[in-house]
Amino acid sequence: MDSGQIRTGRRPLNLLGPNSGAPVTSSLPTPHSPLLTDNFGRSHNNLRVSVTDRCNLRCTYCMPEDVTFRDKSELLTFEEITSFVRVAATLGVNKVRLTGGEPLMRKELHKLVRLIAVVPGILDIGVTTNGILLAEQAEALFDAGLRRMNVSLDTLDATRFRELTRRDGVEKVLAGLAVAKRAGFAPIKVNAVAIRGFAEHDVVPLARYCRDNGFELRFIEYMPIGADSWEREKVFFASEILELIGREVGELVPANTDPSAPALDFAYRDGSGTVGVIASVSRPFCHSCNRIRLTADGKLRNCLFSLDETDVKDLLRSPSLNEEAIKNALRQSVWAKWEGHEINAATFVKPDRTMHAIGG
Ligand code: SAM
Ligand code: SF4
Repeated sequence: MDSGQIRTGRRPLNLLGPNSGAPVTSSLPTPHSPLLTDNFGRSHNNLRVSVTDRCNLRCTYCMPEDVTFRDKSELLTFEEITSFVRVAATLGVNKVRLTGGEPLMRKELHKLVRLIAVVPGILDIGVTTNGILLAEQAEALFDAGLRRMNVSLDTLDATRFRELTRRDGVEKVLAGLAVAKRAGFAPIKVNAVAIRGFAEHDVVPLARYCRDNGFELRFIEYMPIGADSWEREKVFFASEILELIGREVGELVPANTDPSAPALDFAYRDGSGTVGVIASVSRPFCHSCNRIRLTADGKLRNCLFSLDETDVKDLLRSPSLNEEAIKNALRQSVWAKWEGHEINAATFVKPDRTMHAIGG
């Protein structure tokens, strides 16, 4: 990003710019802040790490059917990921979520959990998985120190599961959820993407299933980040989901919501469970976004929808780890973050990478 440039829309309004040499006021965020603060005053403590771009499903809203995955040599090793997390933690990152692609396809993922769990400053580790391999790995992950688990499941119906994911396997996901519950994971969140034409059929059965099993259900509004053609008309909106659950399953009341969390949380009035909605399209949460992302091939992204990336793989692979250079890359990337994703604007440009290759 050039310094001193004024850009609007998905670009930061960056009057000082990184390395501009201009004097800074200590009370304002600067590109040299000791913490990861951006040009709009947002602090970033939440790192999402993709550990692979491979997946054992082919969800239509996420990735194409035919895809060439990166060579394994291009992926960061567990040691490289851990080095990165260690540096990020010195700049205030304290939450890490492992994702993909399908993170459980990365061999011995539990070893990475164990490495990250002891990084000073890291308070919270989570994994987002499609659950296909969860029954096999839940116990090893739990033993490694993992406690928080998000499992993506859009439908309980085998035929509809195949239609959405282009693969079979709903019974494996349900078995994985049961094993994770028995292993002691808490909370277990079930994430469902809400697409009009599908979600209407699945919202109520999913809500009942999650309430009966003590899982926290969260619906994510369908976003333009996959391989398919997205249209706003295909988004089943958060308000519609809440109305449907309130009518068919049980009355919902607003629950305490962490203002920096993307989900708006609701609880059944009778105390029998919770439902969250991530209204990325109808109610973007960019103003409080605290997330940065590291792709499996070592690129830093300051937004799911960013069009620019910063390479840190070369820095992590240099013979003597240059921590200052990694810190600078982090600070510069965060500083250049856009004000918002602009999904709803005519100027919106879809990133080249689809969701599976970024890390959701
Ligand atoms: N494979 C794992 C899984 O499915 O949970 C982790 C990676 S996946 C990319 C992370 C999350 O992104 C999933 O919950 C998935 O449903 C969500 N996702 C993928 N494409 C999406 C889209 N176009 N809109 C909204 N959410 C999406
Ligand atoms: Fe794979 Fe997750 Fe994408 Fe589905 S959403 S294709 S499970 S990465």
